[in-house]
Amino acid sequence: MKIKIHRGQNQIGGSIIEISTEKARIFLDIGIELDEDKELEVPQIEGLFCGKKDCDAVFISHYHSDHIGLVDYLLPHIPVYMGNKAYKVMKSAYDYRDIEFNFNPILIEDGVSIQVKDITITPILCDHSAFDSYMLLIEYDNEKTLYTGDFRANGRMDFDKLLEKVPCVDNLIIEGTTLSRENSIENIKEETLEKIAVEYLNKHKGPAFIMMSAMNIDRVITAKNIAKRTNRVFMQDIYTADITTSIGMTTENTRVFMTGGDKQYEKLKKYSDIKIGKNEISKTPFIMSVRSSMKNYLLKLNELVSFENGVLFYGMWKGYLEKPQTKEFIEFMESKGVKVHILHTSGHADSNTIDKLIKDVKPKRIIPVHTENAEWFSKYKEKDGFVE
Ligand SMILES: [Zn+2]
Ligand SMILES: [Zn+2]
Repeated sequence: MKIKIHRGQNQIGGSIIEISTEKARIFLDIGIELDEDKELEVPQIEGLFCGKKDCDAVFISHYHSDHIGLVDYLLPHIPVYMGNKAYKVMKSAYDYRDIEFNFNPILIEDGVSIQVKDITITPILCDHSAFDSYMLLIEYDNEKTLYTGDFRANGRMDFDKLLEKVPCVDNLIIEGTTLSRENSIENIKEETLEKIAVEYLNKHKGPAFIMMSAMNIDRVITAKNIAKRTNRVFMQDIYTADITTSIGMTTENTRVFMTGGDKQYEKLKKYSDIKIGKNEISKTPFIMSVRSSMKNYLLKLNELVSFENGVLFYGMWKGYLEKPQTKEFIEFMESKGVKVHILHTSGHADSNTIDKLIKDVKPKRIIPVHTENAEWFSKYKEKDGFVE
């Protein structure tokens, strides 16, 4: 099989990978570039984005925009495949914003192979900061290629179990996001974040807030577990609640609050049994999901409950702290007596994890993608394979 990396090889984001055989032509991920200063660029790939349709299928590893962002630009009638639950998360995020969602992918599941002409594609569920993410095993004739998508070993999934599921392969297309960041220090585990926050809250009884991406389901579970272990109620804003309920997460020990407006009032109706207003919140020990757009709501809540001795757990990538809106929000929370603590771990494999996967699948050829340090893989040149 032929492998062509159209984009996203020596950069993080914007991944577009083509696999072709005599009969079939498929693409793995069609992402946008993450650089906000850059204008959106749709590469003019014949048969995919322009010209006459010449593509049998597009497989999306997960819903981060650097992997799916170009889906609206595909030529008509190209089948797109993505995770069943990943699709639900994405759809509820669009529905919440009242954005039309004309995307009807064919839904894939862990271990269930799909035949596209002479290629067999098997999705392998993996852990990442996007829920329901997949590695993709591509088989043609006797040749095997594994595309890792984005993955990590420090979430709640058992990485050794994943290693049992993946066979030895000829080609490994592997992400290396962390290799250029802070010398790829070992990632702390999602469960450790939980422990850190619980220990903190056992000593500090003030209100607790958490800033995170609602689409990072693993982090939402962390918040929920923190609440349970510290006898607090997890207060979800409607957006977070819409996403978590779409994938069947229980609402045990959670309540849903609205931050204002008629639209939110309508959306809150479906949570009639677990909705909560500011007055009741002020009398309840809680950990609350917040976003920088909630400043006005928090000002009103602060009239009913003091934020002194409170904490804001910051559960997103540190880089976002530089955004003016985030900065302003954090300063606002601090001015109300809230201490800010970073509560974050990477969604991407550290170098130990990458080594572990490579040793396990024994690739003949390694093709690094989604990295700014492809050079790192050159240590495998002579030993186990060669690097492209
Ligand atoms: Zn990515
Ligand atoms: Zn990702």
